[in-house]
Amino acid sequence: MSIPEIVRYYGADEGTKAVILYTEGFSNPREFLEAARDVTAKKPILAMKAGRTEQGAKAASSHTGSLAGVDIATELIFEKTGILSFTDEGEMARAAMAFASQPIPKGNRVGIITNTGGPAVIATDVLVSCGLDVPKLAARSIERLKESQFPEAALENPIDVVATAGGPQFRGALDVLLDEEGVDSIFINFVTAPFTDTHEVARQIVEVNRQGRKPIVCNFMTDLSQERFQITRDILKAGGVPIYANPSDAAKALGALSRYGRLKQRHIGLPQTFTDVDALKARLIVEQAQKEGRTVLSATDVYNIFEAYGIPVAGWAVTANASEAAAAAERIGFPVVVKVDCEAIDHKSDMGGVAVNLKDAATVRATVDDMQSRLGHFGTLKFFVQKFLPGGRELIIGATAERGLGHLVMFGLGGIYVEVLKDVSFKIAPVTRVEAGEMLSSIKTAALLDGVRGEKGIDRQAVMALIQRVSQLLGDLPMIQEMDMNPVMAFADGVYAVDGRIRI
Ligand code: ADP
Ligand code: MG
Repeated sequence: MSIPEIVRYYGADEGTKAVILYTEGFSNPREFLEAARDVTAKKPILAMKAGRTEQGAKAASSHTGSLAGVDIATELIFEKTGILSFTDEGEMARAAMAFASQPIPKGNRVGIITNTGGPAVIATDVLVSCGLDVPKLAARSIERLKESQFPEAALENPIDVVATAGGPQFRGALDVLLDEEGVDSIFINFVTAPFTDTHEVARQIVEVNRQGRKPIVCNFMTDLSQERFQITRDILKAGGVPIYANPSDAAKALGALSRYGRLKQRHIGLPQTFTDVDALKARLIVEQAQKEGRTVLSATDVYNIFEAYGIPVAGWAVTANASEAAAAAERIGFPVVVKVDCEAIDHKSDMGGVAVNLKDAATVRATVDDMQSRLGHFGTLKFFVQKFLPGGRELIIGATAERGLGHLVMFGLGGIYVEVLKDVSFKIAPVTRVEAGEMLSSIKTAALLDGVRGEKGIDRQAVMALIQRVSQLLGDLPMIQEMDMNPVMAFADGVYAVDGRIRI
């Protein structure tokens, strides 16, 4: 059986509460993606990608190709299909124990019961770092706790029932947390004090657990060389209480349940289809290039394809010489940018092939003549004249084909530092509106998009629409191997692609 078939098998099996998967990547990623999507709609999949440090990035001419690590795709499949991803196999296995018996928390607020101080502090730290909240209890709950607790108990969250606590004290605290509306899950620190009836404590935990009202995990710290504590453990195990040998492990298991709860609330929606698109025109351009054996599209081709998909570009023209360039600049309106256009030149500015902010026809002519004399030895040059758009934030939007999967779409802060900063995020195409929004907010420098120190923020809606249009373009033109727009100039009102590359 293939991995997708096995996943579907367990997905359909009634006795399976969650599916666990270790993988080094998929030979048939698209098929796995479809299977995972079907199964995660019904039950949790917990998965771990092995071989994460493999840094063999593909040698590629485009920015996007070199920024996507070899197997970023597997993690992206996990993300797209709502698979709970792990980086530690022990943590995944321990989480699976909780998934096997516990309901999914409705929120991230946890109530802690403890009979010792230290482990509760450790648990709190780990729970909080897993995104959980340890809220204050309602006054009513604290009042009710007094009925069951010893005078020296701490009636807050964590509830410290103290070391001498027996069955009634644990049960009293558990009942309060079950009824407390401000708490979605329960964390128990049960250190087996030799002077208490630990069996009775275990029986009370089991009884509450059987009610299945809120997820429970238990840090069971004990000395298993003593037979009576083995019995205590067996009571908990037989009662379906997920027990762990230290507070961190228990906290991470609850953290996984809670992370899954959040994952279930995320709906990425369906990809949007833009109808103002001339798909045929774009296809004919690509087919013409294929016929002529060209793998890198010319600037004219690239900008025509962008325009066919409603991707906003700065006014442009491709010209053959200085006087054509000057005339085009007059039409477009000054100031303009002149860029050399030649298949043999990849990064134009590295060659002195980009001149910005040219304010009149004479400067345009002089610039073209200068480029011709310096760069003519590369072959026949054309000159790309474009409206100069100063003061925008430079973004990059790109795509790369992933064998057996389709395209990965990339978004990040662009410009000439993109390879240094590597501050980009990826999604598998087709990219929905929700995913496009996630791409914007998930880069490290996301705050820059909203503007800092009084700067205006950029037009997020326009960027999201552009990403979705790119996604649609890729779906229509699967032969595209690599594409990037670097930069896309982003302003408070509108975004414009000012440099584009497409390889088929
Ligand atoms: P390349 O990436 O091949 O060097 P680009 O067309 O991206 O060439 O130009 C290099 C840089 O010049 C861009 O990152 C941007 O800072 C600036 N630039 C290019 N076109 C424009 C434009 N139309 N308006 C403003 N700045 C531009
Ligand atoms: Mg560029």
